[in-house]
Amino acid sequence: AKEGGKNRAVAYNKGMREGVVNVLAVESDLKRALAAREFEAYYQPIVNLADGSLYGFETLARWMHPERGLVNPGEFIPVAEETGLIVELGAQILEKACATMNRWREKYPLARALTVAVNISARQFAESSLAATVESILERSGLPPEHLKLEITETVVMLDAMKSVNQLKALKNLGILLSIDDFGTGYSSMSYLQKFPTDQLKIDLSFVQRMETTTESIEIIRAIVNMAHSLRLRVVAEGIETERQRDLLYSLQCDYGQGYLYSRPLPEDEAEEFVKESE
Ligand code: C2E
Ligand code: CA
Ligand code: CA
Ligand code: CA
Repeated sequence: AKEGGKNRAVAYNKGMREGVVNVLAVESDLKRALAAREFEAYYQPIVNLADGSLYGFETLARWMHPERGLVNPGEFIPVAEETGLIVELGAQILEKACATMNRWREKYPLARALTVAVNISARQFAESSLAATVESILERSGLPPEHLKLEITETVVMLDAMKSVNQLKALKNLGILLSIDDFGTGYSSMSYLQKFPTDQLKIDLSFVQRMETTTESIEIIRAIVNMAHSLRLRVVAEGIETERQRDLLYSLQCDYGQGYLYSRPLPEDEAEEFVKESE
């Protein structure tokens, strides 16, 4: 897609051409920002639904833009993905997450039981060198592998399910945890799930947010939790905003939860405060 950029723009109508020009502008700005290390890792707490105790964090990228201020991933991850820059960006975020969790682990007894989750994009997952990259980042940071969890979306693992099995095995061999993100939006069958060496399923927030208005969402979540548990997988629900959603998820035997009810994604120093206060 990168090479065809300019030619493609000529053939498009004006509105679309502006879209392409915008992608090119964002691409060069992204390159500059990667060199300037403008990306930061924010951390959103994940808790045990049974008692609200801290289980770990999900790492979410933020761009500290010199002119635009804080930019959310929805605005730059798609362009980073399309241009391949996500590979470098993903490595920078992974390095930060591992270094941060290792620092907390050495400082707070409670952090010795925490996990840090990092999102892996389609491009990263397609790289045959991914496991080697993760391994060297783990080594450099000193973080024991059992503290790291990688989140890969259901759609990405199902793109080429047989190939994914091998990639997931290579990652699993490092001793890390794996989670299938945005679960319920793709089309995995139980037989595929059984072949994927994964530890967790993360229920997409769209189901959680429809739970209070449609009983269908409740039934979908119930089916996902039952299926996951029968395969010995843990279940995380994201996007929990209300006590009612939390109570429903707990009654459906969902294991872990994450959402604004507990906390927004936090910059590193505030996330560290969260760890301290949880001790
Ligand atoms: P995701 O992995 O599904 O992450 C969950 C998103 O839901 C995050 O959005 C999070 O801030 C948001 N969220 C958490 N709790 C709530 C809640 O209670 N209500 C609502 N409405 N939203 C909630 P965010 O941070 O904007 O990230 C959006 C997406 O960008 C992520 O979706 C993920 O796909 C991608 N992303 C973020 N950071 C990275 C990264 O480092 N690498 C890659 N490859 N993708 C990333
Ligand atoms: Ca995620
Ligand atoms: Ca998700
Ligand atoms: Ca998502």
